[in-house]
Amino acid sequence: MRFLSTRSADLVTLDQALLQGIAPDGGLFVPESLPSFTTDEFSANADLIDVAIQYLTPFFADTKLESALGDICRETFSFPIPLVSARIGTDFDVLILELFHGPTSAFKDVGARFLAASMTRLVEDDDPRGPVKILVATSGDTGGAVAAAFHQREGFEVIVLFPDGRVSARQQHQLTCWGDNVRAFSVKGAFDDCQRMVKAAFADQDMQATHRLSSANSINIGRLLPQSIYYAHASLTHYWATGESLSFVVPTGNLGNGLAAILARACGLPIGDIVLATNANKAIPDYLATGSLDARESIATLASAMDVGNPSNLERLIELFGPVSRLQQTLSSCSYDDAAIRKTISATYAERGYVCCPHTATGIAALHDTVAAADAENWAVVATAHPAKFESVVEPVIDTRVDIPPSLAELMAKPAVYESLAPSLAALSAAIR
Ligand SMILES: *Cc1c(COP(=O)(O)O)cnc(C)c1O
Repeated sequence: MRFLSTRSADLVTLDQALLQGIAPDGGLFVPESLPSFTTDEFSANADLIDVAIQYLTPFFADTKLESALGDICRETFSFPIPLVSARIGTDFDVLILELFHGPTSAFKDVGARFLAASMTRLVEDDDPRGPVKILVATSGDTGGAVAAAFHQREGFEVIVLFPDGRVSARQQHQLTCWGDNVRAFSVKGAFDDCQRMVKAAFADQDMQATHRLSSANSINIGRLLPQSIYYAHASLTHYWATGESLSFVVPTGNLGNGLAAILARACGLPIGDIVLATNANKAIPDYLATGSLDARESIATLASAMDVGNPSNLERLIELFGPVSRLQQTLSSCSYDDAAIRKTISATYAERGYVCCPHTATGIAALHDTVAAADAENWAVVATAHPAKFESVVEPVIDTRVDIPPSLAELMAKPAVYESLAPSLAALSAAIR
C-alpha cells in the first residue's frame, strides 16, 4: 500500500512515511486506500497480536517492514489492553477499554513502541553522523512514552525537551529517569518554546549536517496505525461475545486516538457510533457543529494531555472522511470543562468505585450525556491514562490515595537526571554536540 500527503498526490511507501513523519509539503500522510475486512475473516477469540498482524498486513504490503510485521506487533503489544466492566453501580454498567497498562501508563506507549520497533528495522547504521537523534518536545505523556520505547535501543539517542515547571511531578520523573541513550532537558519556557526549538533544529542546515535528526512526532502515521488495533480487538471481542457492534467514546485532543477508532470502523471492524469527548478546548465539537475551523490558542485544563487548540489530525479526518456534512452523520463530539471533569471523577468513584484520570472523565461524562442507561451495554469508554499519573488532580477530588501500578512505581524508584536549557536553538545545538 502507498501513502500520500493530505496536501499533494505524491505517493510514498510506508517506510518513507514512517521515517519522514511529516510530508515535505507540510501535509500529513494518509493511506491511499483502506482495506475492507469482514468480521468472519478474523478467527474467533484471536488475541491482540493476531488481530494486529491481520489488520496491518495490507498497510505493510510491499514495504521493507513486511516480513518483520509479526515481530513488530509482538514487541508493541507486550502488555494487556483489557475491556473491563465497571459494574458497581446499579443503573449504568460501563465498559472501559483500559489503554494504560504499558510502561508509562498512558496510551502513547502503543504508538511510541510501534514506531521504535519499526524505525529500528529501517535506519541504516553506516551513517557518518552517528546514531539517530530523536528530538521530542513534550507537554507530558509523549516524551516519557518515546523515551521508554527507545531506551537502550542501539543506534538511537533520545533528546526530550520539556517546559520547566509545567509538567506534573510524576510526568517529569518519567521524562528524566532513563539515563543511557536518553537525555532530558528542562527548557526555561513553555511547551511552545520546546516545539519551536525542535522545528528550528529540523530547519537548520548546520544541525542537519552534524546530526541525524528524526522525530517521533504525534502525527507520524506510525503512531496512528497501531492505535486502531485496540479498537479492532475490543470490538471483535465484544462481537464474539454478544453478536453486537461496540460503540466508543474517545477522549481526544489532537484527534490521534479518535481518528484511529474512525479508521478501524472504516476498515469494516464491528464498531458502531463514535463520540469524541474533549475538554474545554473545543475545536472539534465546534467544527462538527459549524463546519468552520479557526486557529485558536490552547486553554490549560485539568486534562492537560488534551489541551490542543488546533488538532492536527483534523486535516487527516477531513481528507479521508469529509466533508463536514458527511462527518456530522457518523460522528459526534462534546466538550467538558474542569468543573465537569471534577464532578465526573468524583461521581464515578462514589457510584462505581472506579477511579479515572481527568482525560477519561471527559469520556465518562460524554457517555452519560449521550447514551441511555439501557443502551450502554454496547458502549465502551476509552481510558487513556492511569489515574495515578494525575494524582495531584484526582486524589483531592476523591479524597483517597490512588494506588500506583507496579510499572510506574518502578520508574519512580529510579533516580532522575536532567539538564536545564535556555529556550533557543543555539543552546540546544551546544548541548547535544
Ligand atoms: C495524548 C493524550 C490524550 C489525547 O490523545 P490525542 O491522540 O491527542 O487525541 C488523551 N489522554 C491522554 C492521557 C494522553 O496522553
